[in-house]
Parts: sequence; structure tokens; C-alpha cells
Amino acid sequence: MKKRMIFATGNPDKLREIRMILSHSEMEIISMKEAGVSDDIIEDGETFEENAVIKARTIMERTGEIVLADDSGLEIDFLDKAPGIYSARFMGKDTSYEIKNAVLLEKLSGVPDEERTARFVCAIACAVPDGRILTCNGVMEGIIGYESRGENGFGYDPIFYLPECGCYSAELDPVRKNELSHRGKALRRMREILLEEGIL
Ligand code: IMP
Repeated sequence: MKKRMIFATGNPDKLREIRMILSHSEMEIISMKEAGVSDDIIEDGETFEENAVIKARTIMERTGEIVLADDSGLEIDFLDKAPGIYSARFMGKDTSYEIKNAVLLEKLSGVPDEERTARFVCAIACAVPDGRILTCNGVMEGIIGYESRGENGFGYDPIFYLPECGCYSAELDPVRKNELSHRGKALRRMREILLEEGIL
């Protein structure tokens, strides 16, 4: 039987990816909406990991269930790792990614390939009602491209170029993105940790 756990995100794009990544696992992923909890959590951590732990622990305390949470974002080396933990809030939560991506491309205009390095980072936390807090990370390295391309994915995917694939992240088909992505790597690692801990 699958083990029920809540995934603490209000982001439907992320939830879609998470469900696809874990579709053949022992985990049944319940959204916060399905669990009847609101996502009014103040993410005031200073790292991806701290924010993931804050979200997982808060929802575990509200529901008494096993809760997974992720915190992710884009680090651009030329911008001192910005937008980083502020990726969702960069230029305001309601600004479209078309605009956010255009502004980032503009900030990097004239910057050569070797200084355009960037990575998507994903931290996952699992809060267990017995008090255990488990964490892990995944990264996907690439460079900021020179244009916005592709229709798949979400967020900053259209400007994130993967040299080893020769395409932008938003041009990857969803199965391939999940094989390579920060979120895919972190979730597969979390599944291993949950098996080691006897939770699955
Ligand atoms: P969070 O919901 O606080 O973890 O914010 C994550 C934000 O980072 C998203 O809203 C996107 O802006 C960005 N992000 C994280 N993962 C991805 C990805 O796989 N593709 C594109 N953007 C991403």
C-alpha cells in the first residue's frame, strides 16, 4: 500500500512535476488543498534548506501527518547567486516570468558564456510526526542563455540553457526534465532516505 504524505506547496506547476517524479514510488502525494490546509507560511529562512524545513514542520504540526516540502530557486553566479531563495519573489510575486526572464537576460547582456553559469537548487525536507526532520538537496547546473526559448516547464526554464543537452530547460520534454532536474534528483534521494529510515 502507498504511504500517504502531504506535499506542502501551493504551486501547481511544482506539484505536477512532483507527482510525475514520484508516480511509480511507494508515496501517495496529497496536495495542501486536498488536505484542507492553507499555505500562509512565512518563509523567513536564510537558505533553501531552512525554508523547506519551516514549511514541512509547520504543516506537519497543523495536520499531524507526514509532510514533505521543497524550496527551490535559481542561482546566477554573475549576480552573486541571485535571485536564489528569492526566486519566486524576485520583482514581486505577481510579476510575470516573461518580464522576470527578460530582466535577467538584460542584466547579463554582454556577459560572456563562461561567466553565465547558473544552477537550479532544490532542498527537500520531510517532517515526521515523531519529531524526525529529514533533508536533502539536488542541483541542475547550466548557463543563462541569450534568449527565452521553449514552452515546457515553468518559471525560469525558458532562459536556463543546458550545454550537455544543447537546449533550454523549457525545451526538454517533461520526462527528460525530471531525470535531470534539481527537483527530480532531490526527490529520488528523499525516497531513498525514507526507505532507510523505515518510513516507506
Ligand atoms: P518556492 O516555491 O519558494 O520554492 O520558489 C521556487 C521558485 O524558483 C519558482 O517559483 C521559480 O521561480 C523558481 N524555480 C524553481 N524550480 C524551477 C524549475 O524547475 N524551473 C524554473 N523555475 C524554477
